Amino acid sequence: MLAGKVALVTGAGKGIGCQIAKTLAAYGATVILNYAHSEDAAKEAMNEIIQAGGKAGVYGCNVADFKAVEEMIKSLAKEYGSIDILVNNAGITKDNLTMVMKEEEFDAVIDTNLKGAFNCMRHVTRQMLRQKSGHIINISSIVGLTGNAGQINYSASKAGVIAMTKSLAKEIGSKGITVNAVAPGFIDTDMTRVLKEDVRAKLLEQIPLARLGQVEDIAETVAFLASEKASYITGQVISVDGGMYA
Ligand code: NAP
Repeated sequence: MLAGKVALVTGAGKGIGCQIAKTLAAYGATVILNYAHSEDAAKEAMNEIIQAGGKAGVYGCNVADFKAVEEMIKSLAKEYGSIDILVNNAGITKDNLTMVMKEEEFDAVIDTNLKGAFNCMRHVTRQMLRQKSGHIINISSIVGLTGNAGQINYSASKAGVIAMTKSLAKEIGSKGITVNAVAPGFIDTDMTRVLKEDVRAKLLEQIPLARLGQVEDIAETVAFLASEKASYITGQVISVDGGMYA
């Protein structure tokens, strides 16, 4: 489904991003796993992909750094010849109630989740416009649609990602480039494993499909949006949340 395509997945050392990288590679794409801190994990995932017969590389870069992202995209385009798929997955949380949230907590989440996605789209767009093709998939969140107490920074960043998705889709649709967002619900990763047991149990009650999402649930949706099967879909937000936001 993705043979001959080159995909860059940000924050791919662990969690959802790691599974997205493995799934895109399994469908035939050459995948570059970006990481900020998880170098060993990213390299381990790269080796797993290669051992399974796929093609992969790694690139360390903080997505919040405009210049470093520019350098990453330029160097990958040179090395691999094209960047056909960009998955903006890198994300962090720093939860707190609004009245006690520190400025650093707000800024860090916006810088990584919102500006990080902008930085990658800003620099990859030039490359995709030259190619006259490409698929950008941004990982938003259900809380970007609903809001969430204690996550004013995170939900703003994820709502912003949706707004950027829709805006860029309108800018570059005529050039053969699609831009979509996936809004995961409650997925079983390190990000949600830190939640207290009672919070997890309460959340579970709100999921019509009565289970946490798995990383594969998100990865398969991303693979579809990255493929020609989804070539007439752009500017959309696909919820993958077990029916939570319906
Ligand atoms: P995770 O396991 O904590 O992984 C987060 C990933 O983001 C890590 O690979 C991390 O890489 C990377 N990252 C963080 N800051 C970065 C930076 N500045 N530059 C590059 N990479 C950076 O979380 P996850 O659950 O897989 O989340 C993945 C995405 O899905 C996030 O955007 C998250 O907001 C979104 N999401 C998750 C859920 C959920 O329930 N889990 C729900 C909705 C949306 P390093 O370790 O290398 O820093």
